[in-house]
Amino acid sequence: MIRLSGTEVAKKLEFRLREQVVALRERGCVPTLAVILVGDDSSSLSYVRSKLNSAERLGIRTRNLEFPAAATQGEVAACVAELNRAAEVHGILCQMPLPPQIDPDAIVQGIEPLKDVDGLTAASMGQLALGNPRFVPCTPAGILELLRHYELPVAGRVAVVIGRSNIVGRPLSILLSQRDWNATVMLCHSKSPHLAEWTRQADLVAAAVGIPEFVKGDMVREGAIVVDVGINRVPDPARPKGYRLCGDVAYEEVAPKCLAITPVPGGVGPMTVAMLMENTVKAARLQLALA
Ligand code: NAP
Repeated sequence: MIRLSGTEVAKKLEFRLREQVVALRERGCVPTLAVILVGDDSSSLSYVRSKLNSAERLGIRTRNLEFPAAATQGEVAACVAELNRAAEVHGILCQMPLPPQIDPDAIVQGIEPLKDVDGLTAASMGQLALGNPRFVPCTPAGILELLRHYELPVAGRVAVVIGRSNIVGRPLSILLSQRDWNATVMLCHSKSPHLAEWTRQADLVAAAVGIPEFVKGDMVREGAIVVDVGINRVPDPARPKGYRLCGDVAYEEVAPKCLAITPVPGGVGPMTVAMLMENTVKAARLQLALA
């Protein structure tokens, strides 16, 4: 069984990106990422912190825009509009989830497509669906980079993606079905009956559900590749923080059957952050070419 270490592969990616950042800085362009955070959700704070830390390690400049949980749609939209206009900002990211009074789709669709480093605007999604992506959403991009790094067999195989969110499942299913990957793909969700019948036939199962240990040992066939996207906090009084992180896959049951599997933590998570950095460098390069 191969344990797919996102931590290790992300480190290699960071090494490559650092050189690209140096080259851009030598040309007078400091790649800059703006991160908008609304409220003080502790998971969001921790994701934003790891993104800002990674940027700092690479020499990417950051602008951290923090709003109270009571911020209005207008305030956040005005911030996005200001960042769209700011020539020195290359990438804009709005950390999800947003408080209920704010429509996340309206905020995301307000981001200038050339700065859409999360790959979630209609322009980015359209380009991805047409097979010519500019910015691929970071989590699917990270998953594919992991599969590529470990040279895992995907072409001609059956892939089942569980979860159809715009940020993970749907773009991952589209990408796996395209000519670069050539998988035969099924996209499952909460209204998919007999899910285990499909996952048991899959050569690759990717779980992006948000339910701890949703994928059990008897849902996966021998020799499968399993990608666990889930990051769930499970109460654990024995831990200093009072919780532990748990994926969407019952790792202990599933791993022994697998050709390869991602752990949680240390699998998809670090790859997501690395791909955000890659998209930011790409955005800086694109905007430099247009300047
Ligand atoms: P999401 O927007 O809540 O989507 C969850 C998906 O799972 C939905 O499509 C939902 O179906 C489906 N689902 C829910 N219950 C199901 C069931 N019983 N059977 C089959 N499908 C079911 O979540 P997300 O943003 O994609 O995130 C999923 C997980 O990945 C979360 O744990 C999140 O924290 C994690 N995540 C990790 C990273 C990373 O970097 N590692 C990045 C993003 C997210 P419906 O559409 O029918 O509701």
